[in-house]
Amino acid sequence: MENLKSRIVTCSNCELHSTRNNVIFGEGNPAAEIFLVGEAPGADEDRVGRPFIGKSGQLLDKILEACGFTRDDHVFISNIVRCRPPNNRVPTDFEVQTCIGYLYEQIELVDPKIIITLGATSLKKLLNDDSYRISKVRGKWIEWNGRRVMPVYHPAALLRNPALKKDTWEDFKQVIHSYREQVDPDHSSPHI
Ligand code: SF4
Repeated sequence: MENLKSRIVTCSNCELHSTRNNVIFGEGNPAAEIFLVGEAPGADEDRVGRPFIGKSGQLLDKILEACGFTRDDHVFISNIVRCRPPNNRVPTDFEVQTCIGYLYEQIELVDPKIIITLGATSLKKLLNDDSYRISKVRGKWIEWNGRRVMPVYHPAALLRNPALKKDTWEDFKQVIHSYREQVDPDHSSPHI
């Protein structure tokens, strides 16, 4: 992981390096069984150098807490691209293709049983299939490279449309059940 980190933090392989303040390597337990994949850093993340720390991140932390998970113990959090796209635009295909190898490498190193994709872009780009529609596949397990992938809405979408929170909680309940099946039958959540 240290070798990967040293390559990522000095990376200038795409144009996003020229406008970033920080490269976001990712954080969490490097041996976590749950790997969360976001799209790209936003302004707060770029300023501080950590993933999911703005309003979306605070909501994500609340969801994890409701599941009985913590950032430090149960998950590793990373992104499709590591540097902030200007004005929070969607990363270009070139930027994704240039950066995503780091994510695949990181997933192999962490070796999680469960991957959660946050939002449409992370789902499509991780699985390299732009035909996925998040509204159709959210909450449905996808088998990918021997791992279970759970697509969920991005927390920013929940902030824009709180009606989506109910579905998202159902999706995370499935993650809790899978975690109990695959990792820890005694895992406790405050809610289920
Ligand atoms: S977005 Fe990825 S590929 Fe582009 S400069 Fe940052 S780390 Fe390198």
